[in-house]
Amino acid sequence: MDDRHFRNAMGKFATGVTVVAVEVEGSVHGMTANAFMSVSLSPKLVVVSISERAQMLEKMNQSGKFSVNILSRSQQELSMIFAGQQKNQQEVKFERLSGVPVLAGAVAQIACEISAAHVEGDHTLFIGRVTDIHIEDFEPLIYFSGKYRALAEE
Ligand code: FAD
Repeated sequence: MDDRHFRNAMGKFATGVTVVAVEVEGSVHGMTANAFMSVSLSPKLVVVSISERAQMLEKMNQSGKFSVNILSRSQQELSMIFAGQQKNQQEVKFERLSGVPVLAGAVAQIACEISAAHVEGDHTLFIGRVTDIHIEDFEPLIYFSGKYRALAEE
């Protein structure tokens, strides 16, 4: 099967947009990711899928913990910055939640410790045990068919 055909089909699954963030030796690295989901309620687990080509892969392994920041509608620029689609002129400021860097203004900040990592094809699935959560009442950023969207009122 053609790669483009597969990607087009997967892009038909509308998602939110997250920035996964880690800190290694005092330096914070962020990466835009929409391959994120909840895994388990007891214990509380989530999963993110990281490409073998991403700088993030080694940093996740080094750090042992990470945050998932579910972006708000007003944070499209941050999504583009952390996807390497936009040159970042300004330093992005991070707050801390349970010792991991998190983005202010996110709909939800989820702090995790890595409980398992599974290499599957050209991605690694990181299972995160959730250690803390902060939620805000903002509208989310949506991604569908390769484009950013907003939720529409019924
Ligand atoms: P780089 O490409 O080196 O870094 C990414 C960008 O973030 C660079 O421009 C860098 O300057 C900037 N940056 C990093 N840290 C900081 C900081 N502290 N301050 C300021 N800027 C900083 N890839 C996946 O593997 N899994 C996914 O689920 C996934 N989902 C995606 C969803 C969307 C909507 C998009 C647009 C992309 C997605 N990607 C995903 C692709 C991924 O975001 C890019 O390939 C990304 O560039 C990989 O980052 P990297 O770790 O290789 O680091």
